Amino acid sequence: MSKPSARKSLSVPRTTKSAPPKQLALVDDQPGNGLWPSDGEVFDRTCTDCPRLAKFLEAGRKEYPDYYSAPVAPFGDRKARLIIIGLAPGFHGANATGRPFTGDYAGVLLYQTLHKFGFASKPESIHRNDGLQLLDARISNAVKCVPPDNKPLPDEVTNCNHYLQAELAAAPKDVVLLALGSIGHNAVLRTLGLKPSAYKFGHAAEFELPGGQRLIDSYHCSRYNTNTRRLTPEMFEAVFARARQLIQK
Ligand code: SF4
Repeated sequence: MSKPSARKSLSVPRTTKSAPPKQLALVDDQPGNGLWPSDGEVFDRTCTDCPRLAKFLEAGRKEYPDYYSAPVAPFGDRKARLIIIGLAPGFHGANATGRPFTGDYAGVLLYQTLHKFGFASKPESIHRNDGLQLLDARISNAVKCVPPDNKPLPDEVTNCNHYLQAELAAAPKDVVLLALGSIGHNAVLRTLGLKPSAYKFGHAAEFELPGGQRLIDSYHCSRYNTNTRRLTPEMFEAVFARARQLIQK
């Protein structure tokens, strides 16, 4: 019996829309391009610690050679007082462009809302070199590599948690952590050794963590959640309004 091809076994998702704009060469330290240096502590673009995800990236790279196709770095200043923690890069979004929540539907509402509350210089994130700046805000993910079907395995979330842990350890003491979805919420708790049973995820739920950080939850701004109106723009804005209240300009 012939061995199944990587393409079949990993089901690289197809898109009917045109591919994102071709990116410029990757330069870690180029200001404003959203990439962080691969310091191996907070971020490592060469990490292959999750074999399934590394294979998926490899298969995707063959299928879409213009895509970024690597672990996606957090976007925004390291000392920002607002950190948004999402789930993982989307295949045709952050995985394609190299910037979190950029290139697919999930980022539309996020960047509009960030801009509305003064956390972004523009309401749209188009590609990694579009000049957009986050203002006292940063966007990260619980898992830095794109997972098949947008579903990381529990082991993969665990594997990747040390990067988030290092990132949050370097954040200001009064940081506001805004978790998009329960996986992001639990990933934050894990970095601090806190039990999820004591901090139950819920939209607009808010917690004071032992180190003084605030954790605010929101349903994830995925296409599914917004299309089904599980998450409306008003609900999302209410969460950001609270974050802005906590983070005075
Ligand atoms: S998900 Fe995180 S730990 Fe796993 S391979 Fe990617 S960067 Fe490494």
